[in-house]
Amino acid sequence: MYDPKSLCADDFINDEEIRETLAYADANKNNVELIDQILKKAKPQKTSRGIHCAGLSHREASVLLACDIPEKVEEMYALAREIKQAFYGNRIVMFAPLYLSNYCVNGCLYCPYHLKNKHIARKKLTQEEVAAEVIALQDMGHKRLAIEAGEDPVNNPIEYILECINTIYSIKHKNGAIRRVNVNIAATTVENYRRLKDAGIGTYILFQETYHKESYLKLHPTGPKHDYNYHTEAMDRAMEGGIDDVGLGVLFGLQLYRYEFAGLLMHAEHLEAVHGVGPHTISVPRVKRADDIDPSAFDNGISDDIFAKLCALIRIAVPYTGMIISTRESQAVREKVLPLGVSQISGASRTSVGGYSEKERPHDTEQFDVSDQRTLDEVVEWLMEQGHIPSFCTACYREGRTGDRFMSLCKTGQIQNCCHPNALMTLKEYLMDYASSNTRKVGDALIGKELENIPNEKVRALVKKNLEAIAQGQRDFRL
Ligand code: SAM
Repeated sequence: MYDPKSLCADDFINDEEIRETLAYADANKNNVELIDQILKKAKPQKTSRGIHCAGLSHREASVLLACDIPEKVEEMYALAREIKQAFYGNRIVMFAPLYLSNYCVNGCLYCPYHLKNKHIARKKLTQEEVAAEVIALQDMGHKRLAIEAGEDPVNNPIEYILECINTIYSIKHKNGAIRRVNVNIAATTVENYRRLKDAGIGTYILFQETYHKESYLKLHPTGPKHDYNYHTEAMDRAMEGGIDDVGLGVLFGLQLYRYEFAGLLMHAEHLEAVHGVGPHTISVPRVKRADDIDPSAFDNGISDDIFAKLCALIRIAVPYTGMIISTRESQAVREKVLPLGVSQISGASRTSVGGYSEKERPHDTEQFDVSDQRTLDEVVEWLMEQGHIPSFCTACYREGRTGDRFMSLCKTGQIQNCCHPNALMTLKEYLMDYASSNTRKVGDALIGKELENIPNEKVRALVKKNLEAIAQGQRDFRL
């Protein structure tokens, strides 16, 4: 039976509830009165405590997803842009994935790391190699990483992951430092989550791949990941282990997107109902070509338009949850979805184990084809030309503003008072240490203009002072 408070996956991601939701959405997809009511509910409201957004339930959001009346879809896009602007402004947080090991004992049909793939080169970084990768990433200007590994208790035990995290945080090269390590590894035990928390990780990210249990079991025929309930209940264990920032995601293309969308929102509702805090981020990867993998083998691929609509509706339904777009998406698609609610993007990613230390992009150990292959400097400049502020900020996490403390700041709009200045200061660091002369020119002009948008005079004066100190060589200012 559907119960968002239950700790059993079959109850909080209840198949019958999703089917009823989809039927309800179909029955109401042309019900303009209801659609208008839903759009009105989701609109940002000014309150004495700041701007408030009500978000939407999985049922309400599913009605909007089913609706294809062109004017209403335009209203959805406009609302998504408005919410994005209200809570995230024009900041985009930058990160890069770091692949530690592609050894894997699972049999995931969409992933080239699957155990039966005998022609992919298997590789696991030594600590020296981790250090070399981190130096290469710091030399680009990255401050925030997401570490990735296949599931293999012998080759990649938790001790190996913890050692890598330690190495990553310990490398201080020139003015560089990795200040936040997010972790995307297979579902594990409460005890292991506790150890990850103690190692100082930021967000624990785990993609559900598909919420459709029957398909999940077929897509993960062998290995520990076959256990749908263990995988789906992982975020509850992570939270029990003390990790309060968790990142959800669906691998779009595996199953019907409307089913996945309802499941994703039900998962967010479940976390809020049980732990009092929703997901910190949602990722929206689409299946890509990879070694031994042909995406057309999965017949639920979604068009760029549907992808954009999904991004907009995630922004509307869970306004306080960050949204991540990776380099799986092309420059054109990223350009289209950024204003619709994306808050984080990766740049200059290499999905091969050890790829950053190589001069040329290696393909032999790659997880999937990267569409956006630009350098970080090119991505940063492009973002600024589009009116975004690339941010290398990691302050919230380092100031202990995580989980419900982050959410309550975010919900009262207070986060705006420190995020915007922090974005400008970390961008200035990037411009001083890593940018090309043209990017620096564009960036300095942007910072000058954006300084005037800091409403509080005292904060503005402090930021100006800090920017001058950064220009003189000081680093790591944060509010
Ligand atoms: N091994 C970990 C696990 O089991 O969750 C996570 C790490 S894996 C490197 C990260 C994610 O890459 C997976 O969760 C999956 O969604 C995604 N992925 C796998 N194959 C892919 C493909 N062919 N195209 C796009 N994304 C893919």
